[in-house]
Amino acid sequence: TEKSQTLNFQAEVKQLLHLMIHSLYSNREIFLRELISNASDACDKLRFEALDKPELFEGQGELAIRVGFDKSARTITVSDNGIGMSRDEVIAHLGTIAKSGTREFFSQLTGDQRKDANLIGQFGVGFYSAFIVADKVTVTTRRAGLNESEGVRWECAMSGDAAGEYMVETVERPLRGTEIVLHLREDQDDLLSGWQLRGLIRKYSDHIVQPILMKKEEWDQDKGEQVTTEEDETVNQASALWAKSKNDISEDDYKAFYKHVGHDFDEPLAWTHSRVEGRHEYTQLLYVPKHAPFDLWDRNARHGIKLYVKRVFIMDDAEKLMPTYLRFVRGVVDSADLPLNVSREILQESKDIETIRAGCTKKVLGLLADLAENDQEKYAIFWKAFGSVLKEGVGEDFANKEKIAGLLRFASTRADTADETVSLADYIARMKEGQEKIYYVTAESFNAAKNSPHLEIFRKKGIEVLLLSDRVDEWVIGHLTEFDGKSLQSVAKGGLDLGGLEDEEEKKEAEKAADEFKDLVERMKSSLGDRVKDVRVTHRLTDSPACLVADEQDMGMNLARMLKAAGQ
Ligand code: ADP
Ligand code: MG
Repeated sequence: TEKSQTLNFQAEVKQLLHLMIHSLYSNREIFLRELISNASDACDKLRFEALDKPELFEGQGELAIRVGFDKSARTITVSDNGIGMSRDEVIAHLGTIAKSGTREFFSQLTGDQRKDANLIGQFGVGFYSAFIVADKVTVTTRRAGLNESEGVRWECAMSGDAAGEYMVETVERPLRGTEIVLHLREDQDDLLSGWQLRGLIRKYSDHIVQPILMKKEEWDQDKGEQVTTEEDETVNQASALWAKSKNDISEDDYKAFYKHVGHDFDEPLAWTHSRVEGRHEYTQLLYVPKHAPFDLWDRNARHGIKLYVKRVFIMDDAEKLMPTYLRFVRGVVDSADLPLNVSREILQESKDIETIRAGCTKKVLGLLADLAENDQEKYAIFWKAFGSVLKEGVGEDFANKEKIAGLLRFASTRADTADETVSLADYIARMKEGQEKIYYVTAESFNAAKNSPHLEIFRKKGIEVLLLSDRVDEWVIGHLTEFDGKSLQSVAKGGLDLGGLEDEEEKKEAEKAADEFKDLVERMKSSLGDRVKDVRVTHRLTDSPACLVADEQDMGMNLARMLKAAGQ
């Protein structure tokens, strides 16, 4: 049979293991939640793959997770009959971190334990959390559909507080799925108790859809202690949280469920849960996280909506259920109408899905509008984490453009700080008498925007100007020409016409000046030649002697600079 092999962990894994043990120690309970979460994911994956290949069930379609313990061996065991892993998968998933953003994660570590623990949490490093309580972990697994002789055993023992290598070997394994045995560290014996483990399961994993089984215990009169029987009992509720009535779900239930579907250690920022009835029937439970995942800017990153049909899991990352600009949303959609054997290809075409997506989009935008209105502190957290992503929606989602525009927040000359807190509605409410347009300036950085000479006249007149310096802003503004009937106007474009804001006096003076400096202007024009379109006398400037402006029809200068930088 196949030899056993000793392999080195990827450097990042080593680093991570070290951190886990040192930073998450006070949070040791999460190991069980993470292992159960993985077991549940493995059951979901099997169900999904079995849509095309029912033989993967091997005649055993009842999926379950089992938790057990052995006092004398000092072990805790978590097992499932889900998809399992092949030898290659074991090496790929348990020896390396395949996630994008790994580098970034490590570069952000500070050495401050509390902060780092938070980062580890965000990164979601479920499996390795086993080493918080165990100094040796043994995984035995077989992938659904492979021969019994193609089972795999993986083992890693820590010496001291660090591990550099692990062992894999091919073994016989009749059972499909994965079994994880934790050999507890010396001071963890209190976990070897049915009462303790049941408590942790109910606390962290009650919402898991598959039953989590433990052996029933009973009081042994002779021994004077609880002993386990041969009978199974289900410890969790094993029901679909989203299918329950809202009144029967506590805040904590919602939060615990989020940690599982969102693969996040942190609590969600906000959520929306509703059942839609009518022509299409579906339930949606959608969460907005508190912080951006490390792969937010990776367009291939997995998308966070799980699709169910009548409470049966269909697929993860159903990207069709959410527009790209809401890719940070996590949660569940459960449809009553789709066929159970729906595939990704069918989803691409499905009109039902389009309706569901429109409904989900509306819900999320509504949730955000509600936050913006009623909980500005939370909205500020949201905007910081996801504002730049949401902005993409202005150009991508025509139907909701006005709603999205209402959710945008900008820095402005009013506070003159980089904090993005000004909405277009706030701006309009503060407009000067006679002001008809929303003025903005775009630049490469906040400071460049703030110090733009184009602002001089506006500062002098006390007119607020939005300061845009995010990379996407120029693009966003290109798609947003007006809001609430007011057009948006770059202060750096065209012959600035301040309309009703101009006073007669100034106009006359400007005309006079233009006349006076005619010769100078002519001389400048001829000496600059092709390099400029025009030279004008302006009353825009109060301190600077001159500035460059783009013509009304030309692209903004910042965009021009970006295109040039991109080699166009
Ligand atoms: P995540 O769950 O966020 O992907 P984890 O560290 O928890 O990260 O798990 C890493 C990977 O190991 C999983 O994505 C999965 O491929 C594999 N894995 C872990 N536990 C199991 C299991 N019980 N059955 C099958 N695969 C598993
Ligand atoms: Mg996991």
